[in-house]
Order: sequence, then C-alpha cells, then structure tokens
Amino acid sequence: MKTISRRALTLYLIILLFMAGFVLLFFNLVSNSNVWAMNRADRHLYSEGVLATAGDILDADGNILVTTTDGKRTYSDNKTLRMATLHTVGDSAGYIASGVQTSFKDELTGYTLVDGVYNLKRYGKGNDITLTLNSAVCETAYKALGNKKGTVAVMNYKTGELICIVSTPTYDVLNKPADILTDTTGKYEGVYMNRFFSGLYTPGSTFKVITAACALENIPDINERTFECKGKVQIGEGYVICNGTHGKISFEKALNCSCNSAFAQIADELGAEKLAATAQRIGFNAPLSNISGKIKCSSSKINLSDAKSLDIGWAGIGQYTTLINPCHMLTVVSAIANGGTAQSPYIVSKITTPEGKISFTASKTEIGEYFRADVAGRLSNLLRSNVENYYGDNYFPKMEFCGKTGTAEISDSPDVRPNTLFVGYSRLDSLPFAIIVVVEDSSSGIKSAVPVASKVMKTVKSEYGS
Ligand SMILES: [Zn+2]
Repeated sequence: MKTISRRALTLYLIILLFMAGFVLLFFNLVSNSNVWAMNRADRHLYSEGVLATAGDILDADGNILVTTTDGKRTYSDNKTLRMATLHTVGDSAGYIASGVQTSFKDELTGYTLVDGVYNLKRYGKGNDITLTLNSAVCETAYKALGNKKGTVAVMNYKTGELICIVSTPTYDVLNKPADILTDTTGKYEGVYMNRFFSGLYTPGSTFKVITAACALENIPDINERTFECKGKVQIGEGYVICNGTHGKISFEKALNCSCNSAFAQIADELGAEKLAATAQRIGFNAPLSNISGKIKCSSSKINLSDAKSLDIGWAGIGQYTTLINPCHMLTVVSAIANGGTAQSPYIVSKITTPEGKISFTASKTEIGEYFRADVAGRLSNLLRSNVENYYGDNYFPKMEFCGKTGTAEISDSPDVRPNTLFVGYSRLDSLPFAIIVVVEDSSSGIKSAVPVASKVMKTVKSEYGS
C-alpha cells in the first residue's frame, strides 16, 4: 500500500513538473517569438543588421517612399523628399525609433504570432503601408525650415490625418553623414529624434491661447475688460516685462499684440487652480494615445502646485516651467478649429496584404471635447483677428486664417536666441487644415515662424483647396 501511494505521488510530481515546463515553454514562445522571428541573424529579413525585405511605404497619393528591390531597401529618387520624410518613414537600421520602418516592422514584414514570417517567405514581401503624408507639402516644409532646427506639421482638423511632418536636423538616408556621431558643432543635435512626436518646447506666447480659453470659461465680462500696459506689470513680488508699451487695451487687442502685462494680470486673476484645470482638461500631463496605435508622443507638462503669484503671471504667458509637445499642441489648435472637439492624430491610412487585400483602413477617432463650442467659437474669432489685424492676411491669402505666434525665451543669457512658434488654421470648410511651426534659435514668431507657415499653407492650398 505504502509503495503504491509513493509511486502515485512520484507520478503526480512528474506530471506537475511536465505541466510547469509546458507553461514556461508556452510563455516563452508568446513573449519571445517576435524576437526570434525578427532576429537580425535571419537573412530573409535583415542583411548585416539592416532591414532588407519588407513591404512598401507609400505617401497618400500612392508614391513609393521606400520599397524592397533585390533584397535591399530602396528609397525615393527624390533627395529633398528623402530628407523631408526621414523621421516619419525611418531608416532601415532602426536608429529612428519612432519611424514607421521600426514601429510598424511587424506589419511591414507580415509577421504574425501564429505564422511567424511565413507570409514573407511565401510572397517575398510583407504588407504595404500607405501613409496620410502629402509629399509636396513635406518638401515645402523642409525647404522652408532651411538650415534651422525645428519641426513643421499639418493636420486635417476634421479627421486627424497628418498630411505633413518634418523634423530637422535631418540627413539623407542614402548618404548618411560620416561625422554624425563625432560632430561637436551641434548641427546634428537630436538628429534621430522626431521633434514633432518626441520634442518638448517652452510654448511662449502660443500659451496665451490657453490662458484666453480659461479666461473665456471663467471671466464672464472678459471681452468688455480693459488692461493697462506700461511696458511691465507688477504681479505679487516682482514684475512681468512686456514686449512693448501697449497702454490701455481690450482683451482682443491684448491677444493681437501679445501683451504680456495683460495676460499676466489675467493669469493672476484666474489663479493656479483654474489655469491648471483648463490645461489638464485639454490633455496636459497625459500622453496622447499612441499615433496610429504605435508611435508614442511626449506629454505636454504643466505644474502650478508650488507657483507663487509672479510664477502664475509668467505661466499665463507661456514662460514658466510649462512645456508643450508639438503633436499635442497641434491637436489642441485643431480642436479649436473643429468647434471644440479634438480628433486623434494619425499617419497610417491603410495596410495592404501581399495578396492585395486591404487589411486595415483608418477612420477618424474623437478624443473628446477640449473646449465648449461657444468658447471655441469666441477663441476662433480672436485668432482670426490676430491674422487679419496684426500679422496680415497676405501671408495666407484667401484662407480666412487664424493663428497665434510665440517667441519662447529659453535662457537668461543674451547669447542664446529664442525658439519661435506659430500655430494656426484655415477656417474655410474647403481647407480644414491646422499647422504648427517651431523654429529653434531664431528671432521672432512673426519674422521666423509665420513665413515658414505661409509657404507651407500655400502648398496645402494648391494641393487640397478648391
Ligand atoms: Zn504690453
């Protein structure tokens, strides 16, 4: 009897060990199969550590941005286009982590958990990915930035389609500079980063749009108020300095001429709690959902928890510790253009299988209401007034353009020049596009960022406008 029970126990133990081993094997298979299948030693997918065989990446019009020819990744013949789309398309070696070639490598190689890379071996290619990008607009944006570091992006504010994303510095993927890692002049600073998705910038006066929104929500008679600007204003223990001496001005005029004295007073009156509440409701301190389900965005940041009155004054004009991510800021401006409702930005419009079947078609996804419709409408009128009465409609002819510039001081040193920004959009139903421009180390929003936006929007109009 004793012998039998001991044998039974041994048997149970063996079964238990076998099952534990099986569970471990299954877990390993599921969690590591992707790595095994994508192992760079696999000659079908990679050649000398570089992605070799994969599906095509196309722009919105079906032009090929990258394909595979004779087991090698080959890029567009157009050098300007290669430079302009580098950060979105990505490189074959995976240096640009947010590039489509890296973030969508499972789709491009046709990898699935069940079949591994069977489809790739059978068809010689994976899935093709069609992007929402318009090549002509990307080329214009790249050329307009010139040799400046920064970013330009354009989004359809009704759908969330990103038709242009450019990040500089960039390089030609076919002729990668030899000094890219050894350079000490700083010309390649952050070259592998897509500044649009991953960058964080001091917003400067573009933040006045958010302070204005908070004022419209919380100060009922804000439009009837007047503000006094003597070139600076005392807030709490110190002074906020203005860019000019604006005298007695209305709320609208204060936004037109970007008066720091008026907006610091408004922020002080609103207080930290209300200003932070508006910012958090429109997505500060939380990342946007991954772009097309894959690409991570940095979170815009605001923290007024320890802010004194003077700090809140500076925060109201975008010069405290607040940082904005360009993709998030474009989403905020797009929400104003879209009557208050924010759409999720995306870059993949469809995925086509090796057999030619469409396996994925993007559709617009609402994030939700960033602004009440009446607040969005009043903000829109203020932003329209900025362009019409202050920057000049000649930058954006026949586009009924709305916008706000920003000049963000990033250092107390006079040797460090500011970053300049512009956010804006066309109010025309036939041209539902919003733009963000960031030009690092430049002069002023109106002199640096607005001319870039002007060139890009003229191309957008010729490509899409009626
Ligand atoms: Zn002023």
